[in-house]
Amino acid sequence: MPTPRAVPTDPDAARPATPAALRLLPRPARTPADGPILLSPPHLTGRELAGIAETLQSGWVAPAGPATAAFEAALADATGQPHVLAVSSGTAALHLGYRCLGIAPGDAVWTASLTYVATIAPAVQMGARPHFLDVAPDSWTLDPDLLERDLSRAARRGRLPRAVVPVDLFGQSAELEVIRALCDRWGVAVMADSAEALGATQHGRPAGQGARLAAFSFNGNKIVTAGGGGALASADAGLIAMARGLANQARQPAPHYEHETTGYSYGLSSILAAIGMVQLAALQDRIAARRAIFGRYHDGLAGLPGLGFMPEPDWSRGTRWLTVIQLDPGQGAPGREAVRLALAAAGIETRPVWKPMHLQPAFRHAGRSGGAVAARLFERGLCLPSGSGLTPARQARVIDRLRACWAG
Ligand SMILES: *Cc1c(COP(=O)(O)O)cnc(C)c1O
Repeated sequence: MPTPRAVPTDPDAARPATPAALRLLPRPARTPADGPILLSPPHLTGRELAGIAETLQSGWVAPAGPATAAFEAALADATGQPHVLAVSSGTAALHLGYRCLGIAPGDAVWTASLTYVATIAPAVQMGARPHFLDVAPDSWTLDPDLLERDLSRAARRGRLPRAVVPVDLFGQSAELEVIRALCDRWGVAVMADSAEALGATQHGRPAGQGARLAAFSFNGNKIVTAGGGGALASADAGLIAMARGLANQARQPAPHYEHETTGYSYGLSSILAAIGMVQLAALQDRIAARRAIFGRYHDGLAGLPGLGFMPEPDWSRGTRWLTVIQLDPGQGAPGREAVRLALAAAGIETRPVWKPMHLQPAFRHAGRSGGAVAARLFERGLCLPSGSGLTPARQARVIDRLRACWAG
Protein backbone atom coordinates (compact mmCIF):
# COMPACT_ATOMS: atom_id res chain seq x y z
CA MET A 1 0.00 0.00 0.00
CA PRO A 2 1.32 3.46 -0.71
CA THR A 3 2.64 5.17 2.38
CA PRO A 4 4.41 8.50 2.63
CA ARG A 5 7.44 7.02 4.39
CA ALA A 6 10.52 5.48 2.84
CA VAL A 7 10.12 1.80 2.03
CA PRO A 8 13.23 -0.38 2.01
CA THR A 9 13.55 -2.87 -0.80
CA ASP A 10 12.56 -6.47 -0.25
CA PRO A 11 14.92 -8.26 2.15
CA ASP A 12 13.52 -11.59 0.93
CA ALA A 13 14.47 -11.02 -2.68
CA ALA A 14 17.73 -12.38 -4.06
CA ARG A 15 20.46 -9.77 -3.74
CA PRO A 16 21.56 -8.54 -7.17
CA ALA A 17 25.25 -8.70 -8.06
CA THR A 18 27.05 -5.42 -7.36
CA PRO A 19 28.46 -3.73 -10.46
CA ALA A 20 32.06 -2.52 -10.25
CA ALA A 21 31.09 1.14 -10.01
CA LEU A 22 29.11 0.55 -6.83
CA ARG A 23 31.55 -1.75 -5.04
CA LEU A 24 33.01 1.15 -3.10
CA LEU A 25 29.64 2.00 -1.54
CA PRO A 26 28.94 0.50 1.89
CA ARG A 27 26.93 -2.71 1.53
CA PRO A 28 23.64 -2.84 3.38
CA ALA A 29 23.66 -5.47 6.12
CA ARG A 30 21.94 -8.68 5.14
CA THR A 31 18.50 -8.97 6.73
CA PRO A 32 18.50 -11.93 9.12
CA ALA A 33 15.88 -14.62 8.49
CA ASP A 34 14.04 -13.39 11.58
CA GLY A 35 14.18 -9.69 10.53
CA PRO A 36 11.06 -7.59 9.94
CA ILE A 37 8.57 -8.75 7.30
CA LEU A 38 7.04 -5.87 5.35
CA LEU A 39 3.67 -5.58 3.66
CA SER A 40 4.74 -5.10 0.05
CA PRO A 41 8.32 -3.85 -0.39
CA PRO A 42 9.83 -3.19 -3.83
CA HIS A 43 11.23 -6.37 -5.39
CA LEU A 44 14.20 -5.67 -7.65
CA THR A 45 15.20 -8.03 -10.46
CA GLY A 46 18.93 -7.21 -10.40
CA ARG A 47 18.81 -5.75 -13.92
CA GLU A 48 17.62 -2.26 -12.94
CA LEU A 49 21.14 -0.86 -12.56
CA ALA A 50 22.07 -1.93 -16.09
CA GLY A 51 18.92 -0.19 -17.40
CA ILE A 52 19.81 3.00 -15.55
CA ALA A 53 23.42 2.88 -16.76
CA GLU A 54 22.31 2.44 -20.37
CA THR A 55 19.98 5.42 -20.08
CA LEU A 56 22.67 7.61 -18.53
CA GLN A 57 25.12 6.62 -21.25
CA SER A 58 22.57 7.54 -23.94
CA GLY A 59 22.40 11.08 -22.56
CA TRP A 60 18.59 11.00 -22.61
CA VAL A 61 17.78 11.58 -18.95
CA ALA A 62 14.92 14.11 -19.16
CA PRO A 63 11.24 13.08 -19.09
CA ALA A 64 11.31 12.44 -22.85
CA GLY A 65 13.31 10.34 -25.27
CA PRO A 66 13.81 6.67 -26.07
CA ALA A 67 13.55 5.23 -22.52
CA THR A 68 10.20 6.91 -21.88
CA ALA A 69 8.91 5.97 -25.34
CA ALA A 70 9.99 2.34 -24.84
CA PHE A 71 8.29 2.24 -21.42
CA GLU A 72 5.09 3.63 -22.94
CA ALA A 73 5.17 1.05 -25.74
CA ALA A 74 5.69 -1.77 -23.23
CA LEU A 75 2.80 -0.41 -21.17
CA ALA A 76 0.55 -0.35 -24.22
CA ASP A 77 1.26 -4.08 -24.50
CA ALA A 78 0.77 -4.78 -20.81
CA THR A 79 -2.49 -2.81 -20.52
CA GLY A 80 -3.96 -3.74 -23.90
CA GLN A 81 -4.45 -0.05 -24.70
CA PRO A 82 -2.91 1.53 -27.78
CA HIS A 83 -2.17 4.99 -26.32
CA VAL A 84 -0.20 5.47 -23.10
CA LEU A 85 1.36 8.46 -21.35
CA ALA A 86 3.96 7.77 -18.64
CA VAL A 87 3.88 10.30 -15.79
CA SER A 88 5.46 10.94 -12.41
CA SER A 89 2.78 9.19 -10.29
CA GLY A 90 -0.54 7.43 -10.39
CA THR A 91 -2.10 10.47 -8.73
CA ALA A 92 -0.75 12.69 -11.54
CA ALA A 93 -2.30 10.29 -14.08
CA LEU A 94 -5.68 10.59 -12.35
CA HIS A 95 -5.36 14.39 -12.18
CA LEU A 96 -4.63 14.57 -15.91
CA GLY A 97 -7.53 12.19 -16.54
CA TYR A 98 -9.92 14.49 -14.68
CA ARG A 99 -8.62 17.45 -16.72
CA CYS A 100 -9.14 15.54 -19.99
CA LEU A 101 -12.70 14.70 -18.94
CA GLY A 102 -13.32 18.40 -18.35
CA ILE A 103 -14.18 18.20 -14.65
CA ALA A 104 -15.29 21.67 -13.52
CA PRO A 105 -16.24 23.11 -10.10
CA GLY A 106 -19.58 21.71 -8.97
CA ASP A 107 -19.46 18.60 -11.19
CA ALA A 108 -20.34 15.34 -9.52
CA VAL A 109 -17.74 12.55 -9.62
CA TRP A 110 -18.78 9.11 -8.40
CA THR A 111 -16.42 6.46 -7.14
CA ALA A 112 -16.25 3.47 -4.79
CA SER A 113 -15.99 4.41 -1.13
CA LEU A 114 -13.50 1.60 -0.51
CA THR A 115 -10.33 3.03 -2.05
CA TYR A 116 -7.15 4.99 -1.45
CA VAL A 117 -7.61 8.75 -1.23
CA ALA A 118 -5.66 9.38 -4.47
CA THR A 119 -8.64 8.15 -6.52
CA ILE A 120 -10.74 11.18 -5.65
CA ALA A 121 -8.32 13.78 -4.23
CA PRO A 122 -7.48 15.48 -7.57
CA ALA A 123 -11.17 15.79 -8.51
CA VAL A 124 -12.00 17.35 -5.14
CA GLN A 125 -9.07 19.75 -5.51
CA MET A 126 -10.60 20.78 -8.86
CA GLY A 127 -13.88 21.64 -7.12
CA ALA A 128 -15.83 18.46 -7.95
CA ARG A 129 -18.41 17.10 -5.52
CA PRO A 130 -17.62 13.46 -4.66
CA HIS A 131 -20.30 10.80 -4.27
CA PHE A 132 -19.18 7.50 -2.76
CA LEU A 133 -20.88 4.24 -3.62
CA ASP A 134 -20.65 0.99 -1.72
CA VAL A 135 -18.80 -2.08 -2.97
CA ALA A 136 -20.27 -5.50 -3.76
CA PRO A 137 -19.60 -8.17 -1.11
CA ASP A 138 -18.59 -10.73 -3.77
CA SER A 139 -15.79 -8.58 -5.28
CA TRP A 140 -15.13 -5.69 -2.85
CA THR A 141 -15.29 -3.40 -5.92
CA LEU A 142 -17.92 -0.89 -7.09
CA ASP A 143 -21.37 -2.50 -6.89
CA PRO A 144 -22.97 -2.34 -10.38
CA ASP A 145 -26.50 -2.76 -8.96
CA LEU A 146 -26.09 0.28 -6.71
CA LEU A 147 -24.58 2.21 -9.59
CA GLU A 148 -27.57 1.40 -11.79
CA ARG A 149 -30.01 2.46 -9.04
CA ASP A 150 -28.20 5.75 -8.38
CA LEU A 151 -27.67 6.55 -12.07
CA SER A 152 -31.35 6.11 -12.90
CA ARG A 153 -32.31 8.27 -9.90
CA ALA A 154 -29.81 10.95 -10.94
CA ALA A 155 -31.03 10.82 -14.55
CA ARG A 156 -34.62 11.39 -13.40
CA ARG A 157 -33.47 14.48 -11.50
CA GLY A 158 -31.32 15.63 -14.41
CA ARG A 159 -28.18 15.44 -12.23
CA LEU A 160 -25.99 12.80 -13.81
CA PRO A 161 -22.33 12.72 -12.73
CA ARG A 162 -19.61 14.05 -15.01
CA ALA A 163 -17.59 10.87 -14.45
CA VAL A 164 -17.77 7.47 -12.75
CA VAL A 165 -14.45 6.11 -11.46
CA PRO A 166 -14.47 2.37 -10.65
CA VAL A 167 -11.51 1.27 -8.55
CA ASP A 168 -9.54 -1.95 -8.99
CA LEU A 169 -8.82 -3.12 -5.45
CA PHE A 170 -5.90 -5.10 -4.00
CA GLY A 171 -5.12 -6.57 -7.43
CA GLN A 172 -8.72 -7.28 -8.43
CA SER A 173 -10.39 -5.39 -11.27
CA ALA A 174 -13.84 -3.87 -10.83
CA GLU A 175 -16.49 -5.36 -13.14
CA LEU A 176 -15.74 -2.75 -15.78
CA GLU A 177 -17.62 -4.52 -18.58
CA VAL A 178 -20.95 -4.12 -16.72
CA ILE A 179 -20.14 -0.70 -15.24
CA ARG A 180 -19.24 0.73 -18.63
CA ALA A 181 -22.42 -0.61 -20.26
CA LEU A 182 -24.47 1.11 -17.53
CA CYS A 183 -22.61 4.41 -17.91
CA ASP A 184 -22.90 4.23 -21.71
CA ARG A 185 -26.67 4.03 -21.33
CA TRP A 186 -26.63 7.53 -19.82
CA GLY A 187 -23.60 8.87 -21.68
CA VAL A 188 -21.47 9.15 -18.51
CA ALA A 189 -17.68 8.92 -18.90
CA VAL A 190 -15.79 6.14 -17.09
CA MET A 191 -12.21 6.48 -15.87
CA ALA A 192 -10.76 3.34 -14.27
CA ASP A 193 -8.43 3.65 -11.30
CA SER A 194 -6.37 0.56 -12.11
CA ALA A 195 -3.41 1.59 -9.95
CA GLU A 196 -3.57 -1.64 -7.93
CA ALA A 197 -4.39 -4.08 -10.72
CA LEU A 198 -1.87 -3.99 -13.55
CA GLY A 199 -1.95 -7.51 -14.99
CA ALA A 200 -5.42 -8.42 -13.67
CA THR A 201 -8.34 -9.26 -15.98
CA GLN A 202 -12.14 -8.97 -15.79
CA HIS A 203 -14.35 -10.87 -18.22
CA GLY A 204 -11.10 -11.86 -19.93
CA ARG A 205 -10.03 -8.26 -20.63
CA PRO A 206 -7.03 -6.47 -19.05
CA ALA A 207 -7.86 -4.18 -16.10
CA GLY A 208 -8.83 -0.71 -17.29
CA GLN A 209 -9.39 -1.72 -20.92
CA GLY A 210 -12.74 -0.38 -22.14
CA ALA A 211 -12.82 2.67 -19.87
CA ARG A 212 -12.37 6.01 -21.62
CA LEU A 213 -9.20 6.45 -19.57
CA ALA A 214 -7.36 4.18 -17.12
CA ALA A 215 -4.74 5.19 -14.56
CA PHE A 216 -1.89 2.97 -13.33
CA SER A 217 0.78 3.42 -10.63
CA PHE A 218 4.42 2.37 -10.26
CA ASN A 219 4.74 3.45 -6.66
CA GLY A 220 7.25 1.44 -4.63
CA ASN A 221 4.62 -0.81 -3.08
CA LYS A 222 2.79 -1.73 -6.29
CA ILE A 223 3.29 -5.07 -8.06
CA VAL A 224 6.00 -3.55 -10.27
CA THR A 225 7.67 -0.22 -9.57
CA ALA A 226 9.59 2.47 -11.42
CA GLY A 227 10.79 3.89 -8.10
CA GLY A 228 7.69 6.11 -8.40
CA GLY A 229 5.64 6.81 -11.49
CA GLY A 230 2.30 6.31 -13.17
CA ALA A 231 0.57 6.07 -16.50
CA LEU A 232 -2.61 7.11 -18.23
CA ALA A 233 -3.92 4.76 -20.95
CA SER A 234 -6.72 4.99 -23.48
CA ALA A 235 -8.03 3.75 -26.81
CA ASP A 236 -8.51 7.43 -27.72
CA ALA A 237 -5.36 9.00 -29.23
CA GLY A 238 -6.80 12.52 -28.83
CA LEU A 239 -7.27 12.17 -25.09
CA ILE A 240 -3.71 10.95 -24.53
CA ALA A 241 -2.36 13.73 -26.77
CA MET A 242 -4.25 16.25 -24.64
CA ALA A 243 -2.91 14.67 -21.44
CA ARG A 244 0.62 14.72 -22.88
CA GLY A 245 0.34 18.46 -23.52
CA LEU A 246 -1.03 19.16 -20.03
CA ALA A 247 1.73 17.05 -18.45
CA ASN A 248 4.30 19.32 -20.10
CA GLN A 249 2.98 22.74 -19.01
CA ALA A 250 0.48 22.95 -21.92
CA ARG A 251 3.10 24.37 -24.26
CA GLN A 252 1.80 25.18 -27.72
CA PRO A 253 3.95 24.29 -30.73
CA ALA A 254 5.72 27.65 -31.13
CA PRO A 255 9.36 28.77 -30.93
CA HIS A 256 8.53 30.91 -27.89
CA TYR A 257 6.53 29.72 -24.88
CA GLU A 258 2.83 29.99 -25.76
CA HIS A 259 0.02 28.71 -23.52
CA GLU A 260 -3.72 28.61 -24.16
CA THR A 261 -4.29 26.96 -20.79
CA THR A 262 -2.10 25.96 -17.85
CA GLY A 263 -0.73 22.49 -17.24
CA TYR A 264 1.63 20.64 -14.96
CA SER A 265 5.16 19.30 -14.81
CA TYR A 266 4.16 15.63 -14.61
CA GLY A 267 6.65 13.96 -16.97
CA LEU A 268 8.38 10.74 -15.90
CA SER A 269 12.17 10.92 -15.77
CA SER A 270 13.91 8.63 -18.25
CA ILE A 271 15.92 7.18 -15.37
CA LEU A 272 12.72 6.01 -13.71
CA ALA A 273 11.28 4.85 -17.03
CA ALA A 274 14.35 2.62 -17.41
CA ILE A 275 13.65 1.04 -14.02
CA GLY A 276 9.97 0.63 -14.94
CA MET A 277 10.91 -1.06 -18.19
CA VAL A 278 13.00 -3.72 -16.42
CA GLN A 279 10.33 -4.25 -13.77
CA LEU A 280 7.52 -4.54 -16.31
CA ALA A 281 9.33 -7.44 -18.00
CA ALA A 282 8.96 -9.33 -14.70
CA LEU A 283 5.20 -8.65 -14.34
CA GLN A 284 3.99 -12.19 -15.09
CA ASP A 285 6.54 -13.66 -12.64
CA ARG A 286 5.40 -11.21 -9.98
CA ILE A 287 1.75 -12.11 -10.51
CA ALA A 288 2.54 -15.83 -10.25
CA ALA A 289 4.53 -15.20 -7.05
CA ARG A 290 1.76 -13.13 -5.42
CA ARG A 291 -0.89 -15.69 -6.35
CA ALA A 292 1.31 -18.44 -4.89
CA ILE A 293 1.66 -16.42 -1.68
CA PHE A 294 -2.14 -16.13 -1.54
CA GLY A 295 -2.38 -19.92 -2.03
CA ARG A 296 -0.01 -20.59 0.87
CA TYR A 297 -1.99 -18.29 3.18
CA HIS A 298 -5.22 -19.91 2.03
CA ASP A 299 -3.95 -23.41 2.82
CA GLY A 300 -1.95 -22.46 5.91
CA LEU A 301 -4.86 -20.65 7.58
CA ALA A 302 -7.58 -23.12 6.58
CA GLY A 303 -10.10 -24.01 9.24
CA LEU A 304 -9.60 -21.01 11.55
CA PRO A 305 -13.05 -19.96 12.82
CA GLY A 306 -14.33 -16.59 11.60
CA LEU A 307 -11.55 -16.15 9.02
CA GLY A 308 -12.29 -15.36 5.38
CA PHE A 309 -10.38 -14.15 2.31
CA MET A 310 -11.08 -11.50 -0.29
CA PRO A 311 -13.31 -13.31 -2.81
CA GLU A 312 -12.47 -13.66 -6.50
CA PRO A 313 -15.66 -13.80 -8.60
CA ASP A 314 -15.77 -16.05 -11.68
CA TRP A 315 -15.52 -13.04 -14.04
CA SER A 316 -12.25 -11.95 -12.41
CA ARG A 317 -8.67 -13.10 -12.40
CA GLY A 318 -6.70 -10.85 -10.07
CA THR A 319 -3.02 -10.55 -9.23
CA ARG A 320 -3.50 -10.90 -5.45
CA TRP A 321 -1.33 -7.79 -5.15
CA LEU A 322 -2.19 -8.02 -1.46
CA THR A 323 -3.66 -11.02 0.35
CA VAL A 324 -6.49 -9.65 2.47
CA ILE A 325 -8.24 -11.54 5.25
CA GLN A 326 -11.43 -10.78 7.12
CA LEU A 327 -11.78 -11.48 10.83
CA ASP A 328 -15.29 -11.93 12.20
CA PRO A 329 -15.28 -11.97 16.03
CA GLY A 330 -18.95 -13.03 15.97
CA GLN A 331 -17.76 -16.29 14.36
CA GLY A 332 -14.86 -16.90 16.75
CA ALA A 333 -12.04 -14.84 15.20
CA PRO A 334 -9.87 -12.49 17.26
CA GLY A 335 -10.36 -8.78 16.52
CA ARG A 336 -8.55 -7.20 13.58
CA GLU A 337 -6.65 -4.72 15.78
CA ALA A 338 -5.55 -7.42 18.25
CA VAL A 339 -4.14 -9.46 15.36
CA ARG A 340 -2.42 -6.45 13.82
CA LEU A 341 -0.72 -5.60 17.13
CA ALA A 342 0.32 -9.22 17.81
CA LEU A 343 1.96 -9.41 14.39
CA ALA A 344 3.58 -5.98 14.77
CA ALA A 345 5.14 -7.18 18.05
CA ALA A 346 6.66 -10.07 16.08
CA GLY A 347 8.11 -7.70 13.47
CA ILE A 348 5.41 -8.43 10.88
CA GLU A 349 3.79 -5.49 9.11
CA THR A 350 0.07 -5.70 8.31
CA ARG A 351 -2.44 -2.97 7.59
CA PRO A 352 -6.20 -2.50 7.90
CA VAL A 353 -8.16 -2.47 4.64
CA TRP A 354 -8.51 1.08 3.22
CA LYS A 355 -10.62 3.29 5.47
CA PRO A 356 -13.64 4.11 3.27
CA MET A 357 -13.85 7.62 1.85
CA HIS A 358 -17.33 8.24 3.30
CA LEU A 359 -15.80 7.80 6.78
CA GLN A 360 -12.88 10.18 6.13
CA PRO A 361 -13.04 13.54 7.91
CA ALA A 362 -11.74 15.20 4.72
CA PHE A 363 -14.99 14.30 2.95
CA ARG A 364 -17.49 14.85 5.76
CA HIS A 365 -19.31 17.34 3.52
CA ALA A 366 -19.77 14.82 0.72
CA GLY A 367 -23.44 14.49 1.63
CA ARG A 368 -25.58 11.42 1.36
CA SER A 369 -23.17 8.76 0.30
CA GLY A 370 -21.62 5.79 1.96
CA GLY A 371 -21.51 2.05 2.22
CA ALA A 372 -22.14 -0.52 4.95
CA VAL A 373 -20.16 -3.22 3.11
CA ALA A 374 -17.09 -0.98 2.82
CA ALA A 375 -17.40 0.02 6.49
CA ARG A 376 -17.57 -3.63 7.60
CA LEU A 377 -14.57 -4.58 5.44
CA PHE A 378 -12.58 -1.78 7.06
CA GLU A 379 -13.55 -2.99 10.53
CA ARG A 380 -12.66 -6.63 9.87
CA GLY A 381 -10.19 -6.61 7.00
CA LEU A 382 -6.41 -6.96 7.34
CA CYS A 383 -3.81 -6.88 4.53
CA LEU A 384 -1.03 -9.46 5.03
CA PRO A 385 2.62 -9.32 3.89
CA SER A 386 2.41 -10.12 0.17
CA GLY A 387 5.68 -8.94 -1.41
CA SER A 388 6.59 -11.15 -4.35
CA GLY A 389 10.00 -11.84 -2.78
CA LEU A 390 8.52 -13.28 0.43
CA THR A 391 10.09 -16.71 0.88
CA PRO A 392 7.95 -19.69 1.97
CA ALA A 393 10.04 -19.97 5.16
CA ARG A 394 9.38 -16.36 6.17
CA GLN A 395 5.73 -16.62 5.14
CA ALA A 396 5.46 -19.67 7.45
CA ARG A 397 6.49 -17.34 10.29
CA VAL A 398 3.54 -15.07 9.44
CA ILE A 399 1.16 -18.04 9.25
CA ASP A 400 2.37 -19.47 12.58
CA ARG A 401 2.03 -16.12 14.31
CA LEU A 402 -1.48 -15.68 12.87
CA ARG A 403 -2.59 -19.15 13.96
CA ALA A 404 -1.29 -18.41 17.47
CA CYS A 405 -3.79 -15.48 17.66
CA TRP A 406 -6.59 -18.09 17.75
CA ALA A 407 -4.87 -20.22 20.38
CA GLY A 408 -4.54 -17.53 23.02
C1 LIG B 1 -1.32 3.68 -5.42
C2 LIG B 1 -2.68 4.16 -5.76
C3 LIG B 1 -2.89 5.38 -6.43
C4 LIG B 1 -1.84 6.45 -6.61
O1 LIG B 1 -0.67 6.10 -7.11
P1 LIG B 1 0.67 6.95 -6.76
O2 LIG B 1 1.59 6.48 -7.80
O3 LIG B 1 1.04 6.54 -5.37
O4 LIG B 1 0.34 8.39 -6.88
C5 LIG B 1 -4.17 5.69 -6.83
N1 LIG B 1 -5.20 4.89 -6.57
C6 LIG B 1 -5.06 3.73 -5.90
C7 LIG B 1 -6.27 2.89 -5.66
C8 LIG B 1 -3.80 3.33 -5.46
O5 LIG B 1 -3.67 2.20 -4.75
